[in-house]
Amino acid sequence: MPRVEWRFEERDCPICGEDRATSIRLGRRGGAAHHLALGCETGIVRCRRCHGVYPLPTPLPEGNPYLDHEAEVYFRGHDSTGKVAVGEELARQAERILGSKGRLLEIGCGRGELLRGAANSGWVVHGIEMTETFAHIAKTEFDVAVEVSPAETATALREEWDAVVLVAILEHVYEPLALLAQVREALRPGGVVFIDVPNECSLYARMGNLYLRLTGRDWAVNLSPTFPPFHVVGFCRASLKWALATTGLSPVRFELYKMESCLTPRSGSVRARLEAVGLRASLAVGHVLGMGAGITCWARRS
Ligand SMILES: [Zn+2]
Repeated sequence: MPRVEWRFEERDCPICGEDRATSIRLGRRGGAAHHLALGCETGIVRCRRCHGVYPLPTPLPEGNPYLDHEAEVYFRGHDSTGKVAVGEELARQAERILGSKGRLLEIGCGRGELLRGAANSGWVVHGIEMTETFAHIAKTEFDVAVEVSPAETATALREEWDAVVLVAILEHVYEPLALLAQVREALRPGGVVFIDVPNECSLYARMGNLYLRLTGRDWAVNLSPTFPPFHVVGFCRASLKWALATTGLSPVRFELYKMESCLTPRSGSVRARLEAVGLRASLAVGHVLGMGAGITCWARRS
């Protein structure tokens, strides 16, 4: 399997620009600081000002790290039928907020299931996807138009849209504010963006870090800068609000939800099974307490 090389850069907060010297260290992540030794080691910190989470130093890939991971592997466990239904629901929500259907763009559309759902609901849809394998599946299996391009250079972002969808995207980009600014420019006045990101202040993240600390490991569970799913920046409700306000987007509605984990072995050592039970419990209890592992948000171009 080809391996991407990483170079490390000392960066300030990618969300608010606060000096890295003031950040709060959460722990080490990757390589020797991962139970499966995945990726390479770096530090994970939280910004004191906006509450965002980022790697310090930040590993930047020399090449496309996703190419090392086939579509089937990266999307293993993702339920296609369920995702089409989610696309239909998203289209309904957008219509309720806007008062009509319209043109919807998804950035990083993967295999295109959400777009298929929105198209089923009567929206004109278009996708941007930088990984050719995923875009090919979107076109051939889900019959949606997709531009193969990184978001920064995509021609579709120079057009005007009623709704833009960013599901599991913002946490993958090194310059999230630049992307949000591009999205704002691509929205018609009053147009809406839908964002879905992991919550780095979830009960799961807090309990996970505490558990590692109590078992003598200086590790963090936040982000995965050098191994799948390659989360390179982390949000919570506060840092997402900061990012939206900075880019001229007004939140319409926030929701925290329970995220199912793929890290739940039902066999293996007693310790692995106990950890899996703890993980499932923290996800379930976090959801009840309003500290769910995922955040969704609709925001309007103000
Ligand atoms: Zn910050």
